[in-house]
Amino acid sequence: MQFVIFASQFLIMKKFSLAIHGGAGTLVKGLMTAELETNYKAALDTALEKGYAILEKRGSALDAVEAAVNSLEDTPLFNAGRGSVFTAEGTHEMDAAIMDGKNLKAGAVSLVTGIKNPITLARDVMEKSYHVFLAGEGAMQFAKSNGYTIEDAAYFYDEVRYQQWQGIKDSTSFQLDHSVKKDGKFGTVGAVACDQEGNIAAATSTGGMTNKKWGRVGDSPIIGAGNYANNKTCAVSCTGSGEFFIRGVVAYDVSCLMEYKGLSLQEAASEVIYNRILEIGGDGGLIAVDAKGNIAMPFNTEGMYRAFKTSVGKKEISIYKD
Ligand code: ASP
Repeated sequence: MQFVIFASQFLIMKKFSLAIHGGAGTLVKGLMTAELETNYKAALDTALEKGYAILEKRGSALDAVEAAVNSLEDTPLFNAGRGSVFTAEGTHEMDAAIMDGKNLKAGAVSLVTGIKNPITLARDVMEKSYHVFLAGEGAMQFAKSNGYTIEDAAYFYDEVRYQQWQGIKDSTSFQLDHSVKKDGKFGTVGAVACDQEGNIAAATSTGGMTNKKWGRVGDSPIIGAGNYANNKTCAVSCTGSGEFFIRGVVAYDVSCLMEYKGLSLQEAASEVIYNRILEIGGDGGLIAVDAKGNIAMPFNTEGMYRAFKTSVGKKEISIYKD
């Protein structure tokens, strides 16, 4: 009897999976040391396992993507949370978005400062406010009224990032790893997951681009541009030249190609990254899952910090093309 119950539980268990990224702007191969590579991969592994452990215990895709992104936000290695790059004013302005594919609920914040985990704030916007997107001072007021501690600047200080900012501080250039100078250790972070119920979710968090000003906001917190999830199609988290990803409405475009044109997850994600975004001059990549637990991770840059794990025993952590 017990065996029958176990067997039937096993049979109805759906494939579940988690994919994460730490940005499509990797160090050029020549500048990557063995030690740094080990550190990046270890940080990706920690985040992956944190998120996957939730899925394994029948937790939700939403909880899994938040936990994985929290872990990536807590390491100074990636451009999000603690490791956020410097703005033109020498501050850190962070953007984040989260979306639940089960009910199309979403939350996003932009231009927040001193917040350790912007993705959690985005989730609170989704769950504790009537709104979807809060920005700047208002988002900070919302954070304070929800008991968030505001970290001081020292928490976000990183010597390498500071030096990178010093290098372009007095110029008019913005530095995005993928475009201007490929020697920075940048990278938006993101996670997508499919849980045992077949629900999917996406989360994306970033410090944006070095030396940004005028309240510049990239694609990451914009629902449909840098982040999107819909059980009917896919959950997507993007990284790359944000201005182009906004114009290409990239995350939603992947979903539309699946919904309206009947493309598979892999076909839709590849079409957007290898054709459509390049046609308008953008570069970068994305990670995506569908409600069957399939994963796609295309990128058109030299590398993309990325990792995935599935319930059918596949796990991979990579940086470059092969
Ligand atoms: N897409 C992000 C932005 O434009 C940056 C990145 O992915 O590295 O803010």
